[in-house]
Amino acid sequence: MSFPYEAPVSQSLFDRASVVTPGGVNSPVRAFRAVGGTPRFMVSGTGPYLTDADGREYVDLVCSWGPMILGHSHPEVIAAVQEAVARGTSFGTPGAGEVELAEEIVARIAPVEQVRLVSSGTEATMSAIRLARGFTGRAKVVKFAGCYHGHVDALLAAAGSGVATFGLPDTPGVTGAQAGDTLVLPYNDLAAVRAAFAAHEGEIACVITEASPGNMGVVPPLPGFNQGLADLCRENGALYVSDEVMTGFRVSRAGWYGIDGVRPDLMTFGKVMGGGFPAAAFGGRADVMAHLAPAGPVYQAGTLSGNPIATAAGVAQLRLLDAAAYEKVDAVSAEIRGLVTAALAKEGVAHRLQVAGNMFSVFFTDAEVTDYEAAKAQESFRFTAFFHSMLAQGVYLPPSAFESWFVSTAHDDAAVERIAAALPAAARAAAEATA
Ligand code: PLP
Repeated sequence: MSFPYEAPVSQSLFDRASVVTPGGVNSPVRAFRAVGGTPRFMVSGTGPYLTDADGREYVDLVCSWGPMILGHSHPEVIAAVQEAVARGTSFGTPGAGEVELAEEIVARIAPVEQVRLVSSGTEATMSAIRLARGFTGRAKVVKFAGCYHGHVDALLAAAGSGVATFGLPDTPGVTGAQAGDTLVLPYNDLAAVRAAFAAHEGEIACVITEASPGNMGVVPPLPGFNQGLADLCRENGALYVSDEVMTGFRVSRAGWYGIDGVRPDLMTFGKVMGGGFPAAAFGGRADVMAHLAPAGPVYQAGTLSGNPIATAAGVAQLRLLDAAAYEKVDAVSAEIRGLVTAALAKEGVAHRLQVAGNMFSVFFTDAEVTDYEAAKAQESFRFTAFFHSMLAQGVYLPPSAFESWFVSTAHDDAAVERIAAALPAAARAAAEATA
């Protein structure tokens, strides 16, 4: 397709980046490969807006893939960061900020009795899996197709179908040995989980799932699915690991746990809790966490874990996230969803807008999407046309049909009006798109 708006400064930065960085980016989805065109190099963010290197402003519906729930450059978060920076940037010792952030997490999420801070969601899930294996003395891990848990070797296995298929590596560089203990099952399919436990009695250390998946687009758990997982894990001596890196502190004060109340053994967090800095965590049952070094034998460590600037940003952000803030995010999410679906319906575009709390995404299909196979069956070429029309009109959507959209407390009436103004043409572009 042709791209309606050129971005010469971004293009020249991308050209330079492509010489010194593989694919020109430091995380693949940023390269726009799913939608084509020039990735926008952003230079600043304020409230609901991002400004790119060409000086164009966009309403941001990505929010740094979730973290910026208060919008960009929130004055109180920035002030906390500036105050922390002035005291030094890293000490390699314990610090008060780590205690405050851990206390904030434990106070919000009942199943988290103890928490360990790390620097990325990937580290959190990797460490949680190691701990689950160390605690149970078992090797196998169950994950679901379409759920992303970061680029942990063992969790990049998504191939294989059927109940007890051993995961095959999804990427070169992950060996059969690393992926061989991973069982990949279809999402929302409790019968498959039951069968896996039967086929691998006494071998499964844990089941890891996104609390409500947002990495194949938004595909919430069917009623009873998470509870079924928790029950099956308990019956079979395995741990239930709920990955709340995306949903944690975003969809409610206590994340998805605050919505469905299903009690995991271990949980993982990232994104919102870092206030835009690299802070993440895993935590859960105190008797399980007690196995972690130096209290116990399972090793886990990090030079920058609990970094004072990241923890200051995280604490400031979490303290601002009160009931009113979540009400605001939920309301603006509902408003934008209504506008999107009305615009698409007006143009007769088959679509399903799926919702998990204030996270949502649009699937270009009229069938309900309950797993990865259904997500992949959508007409994603329509999303490409929709995306570029929105981009040209100053609305920045995730550059893939398989990602959640994110909003913030800063998305005010003016931002919503800009989205509303852009939608009719984007919906038309989606209607007219051809494969
Ligand atoms: N788990 C989930 C559910 C995620 O959405 C992500 C990232 O998008 C991760 C884990 C990995 O987090 P990070 O990118 O911080 O390593």
